[in-house]
Amino acid sequence: MAKRDYYEILGVTRDAPVDEVKKAYRQKAKELHPDKNPKDRKKAEEDFKRATEAYEILSDPEKRAQYDRFGHAGPAQGFDFSSTDFRRAREAFSDFGFGGVDDLFDLFFRQGAARSATRAERTRQGEDIEYRLRITLEDAASGARMKITAPRQVACNQCGGSRMEPGSSKRTCPTCQGRGQVEHRQQSLLGSFINVRACPECGGEGEIVEKPCRRCHGTGRTKELSRISISVPAGVDNGLRLRLAGQGNVGLGGGPAGDLYIVIEVIPHPRFRRDGRDVHSSIKIHYADAALGTKVKVDTLWGEETLTVPAGTQPGAVARLRGKGLPDLHGGGGKGDHFVEIQVIVPTRLSPEQRRTLAEFQKTLPPAGDSS
Ligand SMILES: [Zn+2]
Ligand SMILES: [Zn+2]
Repeated sequence: MAKRDYYEILGVTRDAPVDEVKKAYRQKAKELHPDKNPKDRKKAEEDFKRATEAYEILSDPEKRAQYDRFGHAGPAQGFDFSSTDFRRAREAFSDFGFGGVDDLFDLFFRQGAARSATRAERTRQGEDIEYRLRITLEDAASGARMKITAPRQVACNQCGGSRMEPGSSKRTCPTCQGRGQVEHRQQSLLGSFINVRACPECGGEGEIVEKPCRRCHGTGRTKELSRISISVPAGVDNGLRLRLAGQGNVGLGGGPAGDLYIVIEVIPHPRFRRDGRDVHSSIKIHYADAALGTKVKVDTLWGEETLTVPAGTQPGAVARLRGKGLPDLHGGGGKGDHFVEIQVIVPTRLSPEQRRTLAEFQKTLPPAGDSS
């Protein structure tokens, strides 16, 4: 099924400011509370998830810009409910004056798992990591394979992630009898519901480690600098996020690893200015060359090119080198163009001979005046 437009889901216009988006989201959340939709909880839940996804994206300027540009097919690569912490969506309720918002999220997003937590559900996915990668405009144009060194949490090599000192054991948590969760009824502005949260005694593990591993202090993970090979696709631009699934922090309790996001930052080029797929630069030629025509060498992202400057070229004229810009990130269309603005050098110091020659030339000119 085609994904619905985020703006349409929240019922806001594409240029709606962020507080309007927030208002629309909060309104939706109220309408969709399960207590108000007793007959159709499943649909309310789906709608709430959809609205939350839309809000997470549209309230984040970077993600919103990417969505505006690429839509759902964009390089942000979809939305993962299991690895999102809904920080923005939670914040949307922070000044709402009630504490039930976390419960609302638990209710909608973790309800299925809450009934009877199995071992798999007590595990936690590792966090996502963001890594800012600075690359040159040349690399952005041609794409590049590079190695980065990123700090990340890996399984502790002393306890293998079990969190226990080798030779020690675990016992079942007495507070939750190994379920990892405790229940209580909670009252909130949105109504009352059974709230299930992680057991405070064992932190949701269901088990208590007798002797925590000394190397990782019982966390099962240690921080390490990892060398990671990445492939930067040709045509990337500033702010683009590349997702490397499973390359983030290792999970807890055997949970899956998080993802690694590479955020591209293209270093400004000393002479080239990028405009989408096109590149702009300028050259200077002597004014006699502008009048008589010449050939000049110009640098492009793809090497040196010879530019023919026709006789009578005016200052500020722009020449186009077709196909010497950047490729399209998604492989569509051809490369952009390289535009060269031609600046004309008017000499400030003349030798006596140059001065004589120019004066002779000057005598032959008609009077100059207002341009028409
Ligand atoms: Zn350990
Ligand atoms: Zn417990």
